[in-house]
Amino acid sequence: MTGGEAGGRGRTDRLPTVAVVGAPNVGKSSFVNRVVGRRSSVVSDEPGTTRDRGYSEAEWAGREFTLVDTGGMEPSATTGLQALVTLQAKVAVEEADVIVHMVDSRLGPTEADAAIARELLASGAKVVLAVNKLDNPADDTERYAFYALGEGEPHAISAIHGLGTGDLLDRIVALLPEEQEEAEGEPLPTLAIVGRPNAGKSTLMNALVGSERAVVSEMPGTTTDAVEHVVRVEDAGEERLFTLLDTAGVSRGARRSVGVPYYSTLRTSQAIRRADVSLLLLDAVEGLTGADLRLAREIEESGRSCGVILNKSDLVDAERIRELEEEVTYRMSDLEPPFISISALTGRGVERVLPFAARIERAYGLKLPTHEIAEFVNDLVARSAPAKGVRIRYATQTGTRPPRFTVFANRPKDVREGYIRYLANAIRRKYDLYGVSVAVRVKSSH
Ligand code: GDP
Repeated sequence: MTGGEAGGRGRTDRLPTVAVVGAPNVGKSSFVNRVVGRRSSVVSDEPGTTRDRGYSEAEWAGREFTLVDTGGMEPSATTGLQALVTLQAKVAVEEADVIVHMVDSRLGPTEADAAIARELLASGAKVVLAVNKLDNPADDTERYAFYALGEGEPHAISAIHGLGTGDLLDRIVALLPEEQEEAEGEPLPTLAIVGRPNAGKSTLMNALVGSERAVVSEMPGTTTDAVEHVVRVEDAGEERLFTLLDTAGVSRGARRSVGVPYYSTLRTSQAIRRADVSLLLLDAVEGLTGADLRLAREIEESGRSCGVILNKSDLVDAERIRELEEEVTYRMSDLEPPFISISALTGRGVERVLPFAARIERAYGLKLPTHEIAEFVNDLVARSAPAKGVRIRYATQTGTRPPRFTVFANRPKDVREGYIRYLANAIRRKYDLYGVSVAVRVKSSH
């Protein structure tokens, strides 16, 4: 569950994020408050008085963004200034599109400033250097000393008096990623029905697309003999459209596939990789077989999501269904897929199939408010610590589809696989990510 690609800001409609980092008391919160226009955190002249990492929505020149004040993100003073500021910088790099590195003009470049600058430069992040507390705009010569940090032009500001902040914001906004166009042209979320031969895929497919109401269009697939249907699904009180892959190549004319096994396996693998949600169809009479488990593993390894549908429920009793549900829970504990039972032949429960898939797809695309996961992981760590001397300092969501998380620890190598699983499973239960592979990565906070 560790590893995986970095960043993961690819497919997301989250607001762009601007993080303000800097040594304690340089004026981060004053700047944030000025931009946000309200006093969202406590500010005083005492170092370290801003206790909470503040997340605020801000707007400048028509661009909206989330402004993060990283001040006080480390509640304990025992770790030392160096650790604190590098952690701050790492978190900012992980979360932010643009980073404002704030320094105090009256102190000159300090060691803490230099440590943060090194961290930021090494990461390749987009950085804007803000030299604060230059209260006399006529004389901004002090800012020149900060070229030494290597972060480009030092922008002189006075956060308290609002001097220079407009120019700084112009610069920040210019560095934000291009605004994402409306979802138009964006591919629809994709569903696939997979399972062993004879599980009932064609029958279910026909039952689903046979009900004309649901089908918006049918088109030849991009891959050779797959057919795709665009289906309309009611999900959480909203009408949503999905692409339903027809791996058996069955259209409404009930064209049967005469699949050579190799090709049907290949088609299944292609479908799994293309689909956001694969519905694994089990045959209630045959039970859960090795082939089914291999498919489940393939879905998990491709980072997709999975729901289990027990078919042919008309041929077995309720007791058998309960047993199979338990077996699925037990043997697919890495994904903990949700489970329903249907009869594709009689139509019982078929109307629940697409809403079931839509719910899983929603979990797959989960985007948590930034502070949420940090707080939740904090609680988990408080309840059960990783190991003696190992400290987890912060957690953040770094991607979606599937949801990916990064936690920062002082000794990442000592965070065991079992502990990572504990975090991943707790996140899954808390945010209803059943059937979704939850990736948790551990990075060094130093
Ligand atoms: P596929 O190979 O997964 O596409 O499976 P098919 O849809 O061709 O179904 C295989 C056989 O199982 C056919 O004879 C179907 O009529 C039968 N079948 C499919 N679903 C059900 C069901 O819910 N109950 C019963 N009793 N038979 C079913």
